Amino acid sequence: MKLSATTHQADDVRMRGFKQRSPVDDIIAWLDKQTITQRNEAINIQDANGRVLAEDVVSQVNIPDFKRSMMDGYAIMAEDAQGASSYNQLPLHIVGKAMPGQAAETAISSGQTVRIMTGAPVPEGADAVLPAENVELHEDHIFIMESVAQGRNIGQIGEDIQSGQSVLQDGRRLRPQDIALLASIGRQTIKVMCRPHVQIIVTGNELLPVGSLPNGYHIVNSNGPMLEALARRDGGHVERSTIIADEPTHLRKAMLNECDVLLLSGGTSVGEEDFVPLLLAELGELKFHGVTMRPSRSTGFGKIGNKLVFLLPGNPVACLCAYDFFAGRSIRQFAGQHTQWPYPQIRKPLKHKISSMIGRTDYARVKLVDEHVESVSVSGAANISSTTQADGFVIIPADSEGYPAQAEVDVFLYDLGY
Ligand code: AMP
Ligand code: MG
Repeated sequence: MKLSATTHQADDVRMRGFKQRSPVDDIIAWLDKQTITQRNEAINIQDANGRVLAEDVVSQVNIPDFKRSMMDGYAIMAEDAQGASSYNQLPLHIVGKAMPGQAAETAISSGQTVRIMTGAPVPEGADAVLPAENVELHEDHIFIMESVAQGRNIGQIGEDIQSGQSVLQDGRRLRPQDIALLASIGRQTIKVMCRPHVQIIVTGNELLPVGSLPNGYHIVNSNGPMLEALARRDGGHVERSTIIADEPTHLRKAMLNECDVLLLSGGTSVGEEDFVPLLLAELGELKFHGVTMRPSRSTGFGKIGNKLVFLLPGNPVACLCAYDFFAGRSIRQFAGQHTQWPYPQIRKPLKHKISSMIGRTDYARVKLVDEHVESVSVSGAANISSTTQADGFVIIPADSEGYPAQAEVDVFLYDLGY
């Protein structure tokens, strides 16, 4: 196919896309049907936070594997403390010491005690530990002033984790405390889902690299760094992120690079310099072009071989919205994560009405003011500050004309809470 602005309109896939825009749900259904190649790899547990487990972890050991003291104090036989009170202080002879990491020096019998530290093994014969502050110390004796139950302040063998116990399940997204658990049962490496390889291409003759100041009619590439952050958030490994001019030869070459997911921003519409939909149709399949949503209506979808390709609009808000609706979901699937929105949700009443149209899905940026939801004053898909001023967004589904004032709506909060 000839790539020029003079291509006849009837043959131009770009125009076809916009005559027949597809509903959000159809696109999501198609995306969810695509084969997702999930791979796994063994990595050091220190690097595994946030990664998705690709094995069931069974402990080979008891934690603890010995009876350990939970207090700094005195190991005693609980029997010896029976009837003790401040009026009936009972003496015990200190016969040794028990330190963490060492075998207890000595066993105890009735009338004896051992000074013991937190984490130290409880000596033979002892079945309770009294905290140091609850006894009176006199030279080589302590005086007990209260009775104590058997097992008090002693961590039993396997109390935390038992040998043979299943401790973490396949598919779990690892948290810092999971890493601690893995370390404590002796793991150095762990099998996790691989991060999908993501490539980002932003296209536009007007784009300057990050770190530039806007200059004349040129603007700085802001979608690139945003998409990198989004893809990483969703478990992607960003292999390459490049700016390419609106020029078919260079774009074609870049679009052929190997990866799992290709995010392309800009040039997706029907402008004279918008080559990307044509190139996708030429190199693979342009499955959808044009979505019944606002913003992001010029989003496109397809494949080149097994690679999923997302044509995201250049307008920054539309780019964010289209990424979150579609691309993020697929990247999370590749990474073995859930398909839900990665934003916490709350339900609050609207201050003013929000209008939409039947047949169109809307992504409305909102603020929370005095327990109410308000639209942000800056709007328009070109204004990224509408998303930084917003606390979150409300989705108005295709079957709704909008919501009246006071209607309770679900707000997705941009702030992930960390
Ligand atoms: P396009 O989708 O290429 O028609 O671009 C739509 C609008 O988004 C234009 O105003 C572009 O200058 C702007 N734009 C395109 N790519 C980027 C980018 N990477 N970062 C910021 N703005 C962009
Ligand atoms: Mg452009």
